[in-house]
Amino acid sequence: TPTSTVRLRGALDAVPAYVAGKPAAAQAGITAYKMSSNENPYPPLPSVLDVVREHAGRINRYPDMGVAALTAALAERLDVPPARIATGPGSVGVLGQIITALCDPGDEVVFAWRSFEAYPILVALAGATAVQVPLTAESRHDLDAMAAAVTDRTKVVLVCTPNNPTGPSVRADELEAFLDRVPQDVLVVLDEAYLEFVTSEEAPDALAIHRARPNVAVLRTFSKAYGLAGLRVGYAVAHEPVAEALRKAAIPFGVNSLAQAAAIASLEAYDELDVRVKELVAERARVVAGLEEQGWEIPDTDANFVWFGVGERTPELAAAFQEAGLTVRPYGTDGVRVTIAEPEANDRLLEVAAAFPRP
Ligand code: PMP
Repeated sequence: TPTSTVRLRGALDAVPAYVAGKPAAAQAGITAYKMSSNENPYPPLPSVLDVVREHAGRINRYPDMGVAALTAALAERLDVPPARIATGPGSVGVLGQIITALCDPGDEVVFAWRSFEAYPILVALAGATAVQVPLTAESRHDLDAMAAAVTDRTKVVLVCTPNNPTGPSVRADELEAFLDRVPQDVLVVLDEAYLEFVTSEEAPDALAIHRARPNVAVLRTFSKAYGLAGLRVGYAVAHEPVAEALRKAAIPFGVNSLAQAAAIASLEAYDELDVRVKELVAERARVVAGLEEQGWEIPDTDANFVWFGVGERTPELAAAFQEAGLTVRPYGTDGVRVTIAEPEANDRLLEVAAAFPRP
């Protein structure tokens, strides 16, 4: 076949690949568990599945492009005007809308590293420049250094709290001090994908901060605590001109009809989902306590995962988990992230960690 000479955008050369969490791969004789994508291990609620089935009969029709019913339900639940809400296909879709709406080639986006791996991808896709500020030795955001990294070219700062893949939330006091230093024309996005798992008393109240500060937006998802990762729906809460820009930057009909219906049903069933969230939080506490007893130093985690910052030994630790039937997420030579899952999976996590030879 002839070779294509179609002229692609040069900016694509700078786009890193997204390495998605691998599916569970069974080892002989043991149940395999997927602990590689921070998903909710529980199946969807029956009430949510009923709604999905009901809407499945109408998928020959386009969804509501304005996402009006879900937006209204969110506005009521969060006590914000509907005009401040912008939805998208997963919060990663909304993040794409944010970068598209704000960044021209050459503009800068500041974020911590390591953090969510879609950040550098979306920034590079826009031809913008990623300014990555290393985490502290405790695997936390270095908000001082991030404030110092803001320049005249900075359009957006992404604050991932709790941070994926390391786990800590930023503290409310350090975040307020940081926001005092960021110019008002720079959008600060508080990515709260794991909000529902947060138990730290020092964690910020992102919506309250958003209400007080016109340049702060909050990003949330139905993929984690709500257990709808496969349907792809997330949203941002932003002040009106920004939210309007995000809606403009959206792919038309990007939030499908099953996702819209399931998200509304999940908001209605939140008390039931919250029982599961609390179980996962209790499992997280059990895992962290067990690991600490074994002598591991695990960063404070406010999310549904734990971080093993094992550096060069990352592939070795990931292989040990894999051999035990646990699929986890290795990050180069930084560390291994393991999602809190079913109790049996967490038991096995602890067994592997205990058996892993350490200096
Ligand atoms: N933000 C963070 C911090 C995440 O970890 C993820 C998922 N890995 C997302 C956003 C995107 O999730 P989704 O697109 O499923 O909403």
